Amino acid sequence: MRIVIVGGGQAAASMAARLRAKGHAGPLTVIGDEPAAPYQRPPLSKAYLLGRMDIDRLTLRAPEWWRDQEIALHLSETALSIDAVGRVVTTDRGTHGYDALALTTGASPRRLPASMGGDLPGTHVIRNLADVDALAPQLHEGRRLVVIGGGYIGLEAAAVARKSGLKVTLIEAAPRILGRVAAAQTADLIRALHQAHGVTILEGTGISRITGEDRVDGVALTDGQQIDADLVIMGIGVLPETGLAATAGLHLDNGIATDLHGRTSDPSIWAAGDCASTPWQGGRLRLESVGGAIDMAECVADNMLGYARDYVPKAWFWSDQFDAKLQIAGLNTGHDQVVERAGQGDHAASVWYYRQGALIAVDALNDVRAYMIGKRLIEGGISPDPATLATVPDLRALLA
Ligand code: NAP
Repeated sequence: MRIVIVGGGQAAASMAARLRAKGHAGPLTVIGDEPAAPYQRPPLSKAYLLGRMDIDRLTLRAPEWWRDQEIALHLSETALSIDAVGRVVTTDRGTHGYDALALTTGASPRRLPASMGGDLPGTHVIRNLADVDALAPQLHEGRRLVVIGGGYIGLEAAAVARKSGLKVTLIEAAPRILGRVAAAQTADLIRALHQAHGVTILEGTGISRITGEDRVDGVALTDGQQIDADLVIMGIGVLPETGLAATAGLHLDNGIATDLHGRTSDPSIWAAGDCASTPWQGGRLRLESVGGAIDMAECVADNMLGYARDYVPKAWFWSDQFDAKLQIAGLNTGHDQVVERAGQGDHAASVWYYRQGALIAVDALNDVRAYMIGKRLIEGGISPDPATLATVPDLRALLA
């Protein structure tokens, strides 16, 4: 069986490794359009941007590994179309026939349109190594940075820039930061952390455009204010990469729609990672998380080899901002009750999410014990009484 994986990120690397580990001995090809071999993306907006991690540590597998595993790694090669009937992928370099094809094409950052100055020199996004290699040399002490978007990308970038001595203003259009991904209690903790380090956060604040003639000189707000800036980072979310899937006529629904096994509407084509949406709780879920990408890629690899295993999304995320660590277990979608618990030490606390009395997720800031115990409770289907959870002196008692 000839297996081709298109997309050269974390999902591709995990899938390829799993296919070999589970005994696939046939031809295996990975096609990625970036020049770098698959690398870890999470450090890009954290340690790598800060200059505290080098490319070798970012890279997932050394060149010898790909050779030893007999995986043909095609870098700087862009897949253009799929002939689903003839089972051929056409790229800018040639063609690749397949018996099974996996799409791990990821997602692309949104930018403000050119009509709003989104393409002016001095504007940046953070998704790929090249994006961060272009941005990092710009982070000089004393420069003025405006970050547009108060999601994890924007907040992590704001923290790195402050640490590097820039004057940082973060602008969020929605009423509060982290609106898509976390409860107001978590947003309050993160806002307080940033403000304590001197980041100016403007919430409920719209942008009318990024200003400048030949390069960025500021950001004009809808309320008439002008914020001067030497550079701008847009962290305004991502869109799943579905263009290639569309050429094969695959069913799309908030990403490439798959069944519980990760198979698309074409039985020979699979999908995993940020580009894929899977059935979940009567609807569809597209997880944007490296943990999700790894889990789903491994599940798809097993299913390509005939295991017929259902993919069960298990979310885990983390975010480093300043010296604080936010760890998240579970998925908080549909929560109807939130419990906050103080932790020990600076900026330490945890926020627990319930849905219809069931514990579904926890955000733990500088509180490893809350994260570990929360994860075990969620995985074990144990839902402590919310009032007890808020006040019990030692969380370990909840596991007894
Ligand atoms: P995100 O989580 O979608 O956050 C984007 C934020 O920007 C949202 O709060 C959004 O508000 C806001 N926004 C959108 N348009 C705006 C505008 N015109 N002006 C001001 N604010 C605007 O996406 P992200 O932070 O860009 O991250 C991209 C991806 O990387 C996500 O998948 C994220 O989960 C992932 N990531 C994860 C981590 C981690 O887990 N630690 C770290 C970095 C990145 P609305 O929701 O109201 O549109």
